[in-house]
Amino acid sequence: MPLISQLALLCLTCMCWSNLQAEGEFRRLQEINPPPLPEEKQAIVIEGGLLIDGTGAVPLEDAVVVLRGERIVAVGKRSNIDIPENSMHIAAQGKAILPGLVDSHFHTAEGETVHSLPPLFLSHGVTTARDPGRPIEVYDSYKTSKSLAPRLFLTGPHFDQAPCAWPKNAIEIDSVEEARAATRRFFDRGASAIKVYFRLPLDEIRATCTTAHGLGIPVTAHLELVDADSAIEAGLDGLEHITSLGTTLAEPDIAATFRSAVFAENSAREDGRYRLWATLNFNDNQRVANALAVMKLHNTVLSPTLATFERRAGDKDVEEFHVRGFENMLRFVGICHKAGIRVVTGSHTWSRHVPMGWAFQREMELLHEAGMTNMDVIQASTLANAQFLGCADRIGSIETGKLADIVIVRGNPLEDLTSMYQVEQVILNGHLVPKSNVAPPLR
Ligand SMILES: [Zn+2]
Repeated sequence: MPLISQLALLCLTCMCWSNLQAEGEFRRLQEINPPPLPEEKQAIVIEGGLLIDGTGAVPLEDAVVVLRGERIVAVGKRSNIDIPENSMHIAAQGKAILPGLVDSHFHTAEGETVHSLPPLFLSHGVTTARDPGRPIEVYDSYKTSKSLAPRLFLTGPHFDQAPCAWPKNAIEIDSVEEARAATRRFFDRGASAIKVYFRLPLDEIRATCTTAHGLGIPVTAHLELVDADSAIEAGLDGLEHITSLGTTLAEPDIAATFRSAVFAENSAREDGRYRLWATLNFNDNQRVANALAVMKLHNTVLSPTLATFERRAGDKDVEEFHVRGFENMLRFVGICHKAGIRVVTGSHTWSRHVPMGWAFQREMELLHEAGMTNMDVIQASTLANAQFLGCADRIGSIETGKLADIVIVRGNPLEDLTSMYQVEQVILNGHLVPKSNVAPPLR
């Protein structure tokens, strides 16, 4: 890796600290729970499937992928690959071979879900996930566990101010000094990114970004009060939730009303953001053009988490403003993608429209509905997210030398993304993952 990508540099356009994401990578960041090495020395040969390698390259029919230990050791057309003797064969005719899915926004909740949700998502193809906003210790059992789980990238609790919306998942940061100290402390405990939450003021966001970039890790945010363009100019690398752009895009008086309601009462954001989004107009709008320009200039990554916001006519407790608000969220994700903004797939774990465990697949469908091609969506779900998490040197694509994180699905997801629900086999670090007994939704 060129030295330049290891450095945080001063961006001369706006004098902020920039992480040079143009390289597409942060430092070589690590999960807290590297999976065990496979004991089996026998090679695994996946043969006959449609290879969609995660890089956006033309898909390869009748492909062969050879795994040995935790690595991918050969990839190509059947006629060009020497198939090792005594290997284990996985027939993939009529199936597609993709990189393991990478989820930029995954949470567990209180209690048992810490133990149940990561393996459930793994069995559906998510081999890597970042939880932006749970205490690191919550996942401690995964550091020593021998059972298979997605590679977990953590931020620790999000940086917020009182009254915190999620006190158990927040740390109160009341000064720039505290922001700097907490960033260093979380980094020392294994955080591979920092997440800032919506009450954190701009100066503390800037101090967090400067410190995090000095340590080689990105900062991502859930915003409601601070405008996204200001936060990005202060150094922010990622936006979690399309709604983080709300106040930046809305008419100033509508944004001001929303801000004062949320400032007074956290829960005002819940319906308030749909009401705000329902008012947005994206045509000939200088604020829209400015937001896109700022995101583009700073190579900001957008993890829209549409699945968690999905509200459709006829859904329970859904009113007209929810429906129109969500339609505009979808529309703006399409506009961002068209403008060249880096959009990635974050499940946010919960979706009203699919059973538990399938929110990542639902997010893929919604990104497609927003205007991304199936190939774009697959890249957003694999290599682009690995770049966002800072591990694209090892995972995110099916290439010789990379780690053997693979998902095999029935059908062809380039033709129909519902194929992503038809998971045939998941491979993590060269281990065959036992199948899930959770049925895919009927679609
Ligand atoms: Zn979240």
